[in-house]
Amino acid sequence: MKRGKDNINFDSERQEMVETQIVQKGINEKNVIEVMLKVPRHLFVPEKFLSEAYNDYPLPTGEGQTISQPYMVALMTELLQLTIKDRTLEIGTGSGYQTAILSELSGEVYTIERNKNLSEKAEKLLSSLGYKNIKYKIGDGTTGWKEFGPYSRILITAGSNEVPKPLLDQLSNLGKMVIPIGNRLNQILTVIEKINDNLTKREICGCMFVPLIGEYGWKT
Ligand code: SAM
Repeated sequence: MKRGKDNINFDSERQEMVETQIVQKGINEKNVIEVMLKVPRHLFVPEKFLSEAYNDYPLPTGEGQTISQPYMVALMTELLQLTIKDRTLEIGTGSGYQTAILSELSGEVYTIERNKNLSEKAEKLLSSLGYKNIKYKIGDGTTGWKEFGPYSRILITAGSNEVPKPLLDQLSNLGKMVIPIGNRLNQILTVIEKINDNLTKREICGCMFVPLIGEYGWKT
């Protein structure tokens, strides 16, 4: 019988990933640890990378894009400090793995992906897993999704040389944004907080994301 994604649960691999890549590297928010233990990452990676699904690195999702390293997903989630009251905007749905994590911890999730195939695949998988508080859009996330804003949390999962202005405008008062800022190859994971229209910026660590391509990002 073919050992497909659906007939292996990978519980022990997920447990080990959380112990060695998440907790030992300093993630300590209980809700982030619980959700990293819960979401079946192997369902979000292409079949040919199944045996590597819980390894400590990003993997291709197809379409020239990547599913981020587990630690980076956990770190960005911890930095957002999500609660069930949050309305969260995600730019870069990709495989939908980070979307699932956001969905578990936020009240509502709005996710935008510029690649139609990735968006449709992620929506199909997340719906089949029972995630109901997510709205999907195919298009340029650098212009945000004004119709449902403002958002108390915004996560950009692709690298930009600056913060797209429409996303700052759509961040609510006391809101938090996490975004990799830098050049096309290397960025600094940055947290932006808005308090009465004043913005504060906190640099967390170096990172490497695929480029954010769009009107307020890289042009190609
Ligand atoms: N969070 C994803 C996951 O868990 O699989 C990984 C996201 S991947 C690192 C970055 C994604 O951003 C890619 O799928 C890419 O197509 C998408 N992207 C790049 N520029 C974008 C834009 N302007 N709007 C929406 N999506 C964009």
